[in-house]
Amino acid sequence: MKRGKLIVVSAPSGCGKGTILGQVMKDGRYYYSVSATTRRPREGEQDGVHYRFLERAEFERLVAEGAFLEHAEFCGNCYGTLTAPIESHLAQGQHVILEIEVQGAMQIRSQRPDAVFVFIAPPSLETLRERLTNRGTETAEVIAERVAQAERELALMPQYDYCVVNDVLEDAVADFRAIVRAEELKTEQR
Ligand code: 5GP
Repeated sequence: MKRGKLIVVSAPSGCGKGTILGQVMKDGRYYYSVSATTRRPREGEQDGVHYRFLERAEFERLVAEGAFLEHAEFCGNCYGTLTAPIESHLAQGQHVILEIEVQGAMQIRSQRPDAVFVFIAPPSLETLRERLTNRGTETAEVIAERVAQAERELALMPQYDYCVVNDVLEDAVADFRAIVRAEELKTEQR
């Protein structure tokens, strides 16, 4: 059986990456890696579905045990990818999607030459600010911090293999699917 692809996706907060990935993953060939985080759950988020919500002490224990493929601190909270489930899904031929921020992605870049790196960008920083405001889940202070963070993240886009601009959702979904298809067709996969 052909191994799945490890697909690392980063996007500034509010770029609509969740919506794009939700559409892409409808076809069932994908496994979405559920990260661990010390952030508090947002309204509607479920433990084990959106994240594994952990206390900081437990997160640090897992770091010490070497349980994470990568981990990083983002806006005051810790986030990490647990290694164990990833390998088994790749071996089963599923594409594994890691939706992680740029520091974590760069850790994987140095460890996993087999991974594909996709950056999802907003059409502009102004659009991003509007989307975050309309989402209504964060305070004005947090929004300002996340827009500043987005600007820093955008500077790292050239480190990724592909960039998908999320202007029109259907186009962004089609672009993402095209990237995965191209990766599946690479000669080294045969
Ligand atoms: P949020 O708090 O909005 O859910 O996520 C904040 C940022 O953390 C996003 O950029 C998201 O992609 C990133 N993130 C989520 N899980 C992980 C992870 O396991 N590792 C890293 N490095 N970043 C993550």
